[in-house]
Amino acid sequence: MISKTYETYAPEETLALGEKLGEKAQPGQIYTLVGDLGVGKTVFTQGVARGLGIKEPVSSPTFTIVQEYDEGRIPFYHFDVYRIGDVEEMDEIGYEDYFYGEGVCLIEWANLIDEILPPEAICITIEKNPEKGYDYRRITIDASI
Ligand code: ADP
Ligand code: MG
Repeated sequence: MISKTYETYAPEETLALGEKLGEKAQPGQIYTLVGDLGVGKTVFTQGVARGLGIKEPVSSPTFTIVQEYDEGRIPFYHFDVYRIGDVEEMDEIGYEDYFYGEGVCLIEWANLIDEILPPEAICITIEKNPEKGYDYRRITIDASI
């Protein structure tokens, strides 16, 4: 297990961290994002998209579970499973084609679909710490290899 921790003090810094990760992302990788509402998961995702060379704006998919972006270096599949009622909804959208395909998957609220996450997923946790200020975020990246 490799674990790295970062601290950011502004949204731009979280975006820049995501961007670095997006630049290095490889086909078939799955990134999971866990953290409370408003912690910065979508900001981080926007950075990843930028790092992949995606220019169109990325926001959380509201009416669909997954949003696909094809204009970057590798296809990018952005999931937000916050509103998912049952993990079966993932079957309905054919998630396996995304998870085990040639693109990069990033899943906001991945903890809600724990049972279908492959063990090789790269787990990113974002946390606030009120003692360190309103814009402070602690970002931990865990990879099983
Ligand atoms: P989530 O997707 O986790 O619900 P968002 O990314 O949509 O959260 O929103 C995060 C909010 O927190 C944004 O309004 C952003 O400007 C703000 N913010 C403040 N400081 C940071 C930081 N260090 N990193 C990321 N976002 C931050
Ligand atoms: Mg979000």
